[in-house]
Amino acid sequence: MDAKSVITVNIVTPDGSVYDATTDLVVCKTTVGEIGIMPNHIPTLAALAIDRVRVHKGEEKFDEIAVSGGFMEFSDNTLSIVASAAEKSEDIDTNRAQRAKERAEKRIAQAKESHNVDELKRAEVSLRRAVNRISISSHR
Ligand code: ATP
Repeated sequence: MDAKSVITVNIVTPDGSVYDATTDLVVCKTTVGEIGIMPNHIPTLAALAIDRVRVHKGEEKFDEIAVSGGFMEFSDNTLSIVASAAEKSEDIDTNRAQRAKERAEKRIAQAKESHNVDELKRAEVSLRRAVNRISISSHR
């Protein structure tokens, strides 16, 4: 693949780099919908949902990375993703995510009972992170 037909992908978090690769297709979910990035796509800046980033690795194969929100920026065939947390599917601890899901569900029930709107919102985001990790780890 020559430089014009390749995308370089970097995913970074406050803890450092989580994923680096070259590819011909990345699919990610922005807060306004799914976006597919191929080489020479127009420069793009978008907020990411709590979801998966899929990086094409040939044939039907994709690397999947869980991202807990953040931003993606594409220009000059480089896709940079800055996320508050991100894990490659093989690095996800499913039991930990399952425990986080149960904790979040309890918090949601309590927040609803006490009509605590702020706590409810925070717990719902925790639940989304946990469910996203469980869903991505079940694909590997
Ligand atoms: P928990 O309650 O289990 O800590 P969390 O959603 O609060 O989950 P985050 O604040 O999103 O966790 O992430 C904290 C750090 O832990 C990040 O570096 C993130 O990549 C990592 N992390 C969180 N959950 C998992 C998991 N299930 N498997 C692997 N790494 C995880």
